[in-house]
Amino acid sequence: MTEERKTPLTKEQIEELREDLKLADTLTRIDNTLLILSGKGGVGKSTVAVNLAAALAASDKEVGLLDIDLHGPSVPTMLGLEGADIARGSGRGLEPIKITKNFKVMSIEFVMKDNKDQAVIWRGPMKHRMIHEFLSEVDWGDLDFLIVDAPPGTGDEPLSICQMAPPRSQAVIVTTPQKVAIRDVKKSINFCKNLGMPIFGIIENMSGFVCPTCGSSHPLFKTGGGESLARETGFRFLGSIPIDPRIVNASDDGKPFVTEYPASPTSKAFEQIVGPILGLSSPRLKKH
Ligand code: ADP
Repeated sequence: MTEERKTPLTKEQIEELREDLKLADTLTRIDNTLLILSGKGGVGKSTVAVNLAAALAASDKEVGLLDIDLHGPSVPTMLGLEGADIARGSGRGLEPIKITKNFKVMSIEFVMKDNKDQAVIWRGPMKHRMIHEFLSEVDWGDLDFLIVDAPPGTGDEPLSICQMAPPRSQAVIVTTPQKVAIRDVKKSINFCKNLGMPIFGIIENMSGFVCPTCGSSHPLFKTGGGESLARETGFRFLGSIPIDPRIVNASDDGKPFVTEYPASPTSKAFEQIVGPILGLSSPRLKKH
């Protein structure tokens, strides 16, 4: 009988295995991941990510918000975290920043703190590595929801996160009502289909303007494009979010709109969208 000789693993292979194990450990502690995607920039994807995360946290869920928009992170500004310091965690890698006891945030901007205004020039594999680290090296703990704010389009970052995402991951697609936005969002839908990423639903943002003073409604950029796209593609329509000029001020002041103006029609629209998302959450089991 010939004795099988096993080639010992190289240092790099051992390191790779160790990192994969760390990633697997993080992923088992995340109950649901929602990837917030859009076909175009400027449709309010980060606004939706921040406010969904804040609304879920306000519903007592353990929430993590991960900003993987490596070229234009908006989340730190929208949550008043510019210049924030991140620390090494007790057990593993980096501590995310805590907004409240059950709402944690991580963004490329915290890591690039001293070079905030520097353009990030990275090729695909470097971005992939960074996103891997954001998952495996960050001490997320047990989460009911990880909300991921990905850059617009179908580039390296959405691709990496779709490849690495935990098993219970779904995409939420954000669009505005106009034809030009709808056309691009169809590419995001096809991207998810090609990668086998389930789509939880479609949100139409900037859907009409509700006057904060008199309550009258005006379809500034038309309305209904997102809903008819949902009908056409067979995905769930999660809801329409009206334009409210106070969103811009709240974002610039670093405060989630939904907690600043909970009674506004726009916050009520977020509340309706959060309903079915809360339905995804399984009863918490302490895993660690
Ligand atoms: P994206 O992430 O898609 O590039 P952002 O979330 O950064 O878009 O939003 C772009 C701008 O539009 C921001 O200034 C934001 O405050 C504003 N905005 C987003 N949604 C709304 C809305 N429903 N009403 C008013 N302003 C909005």
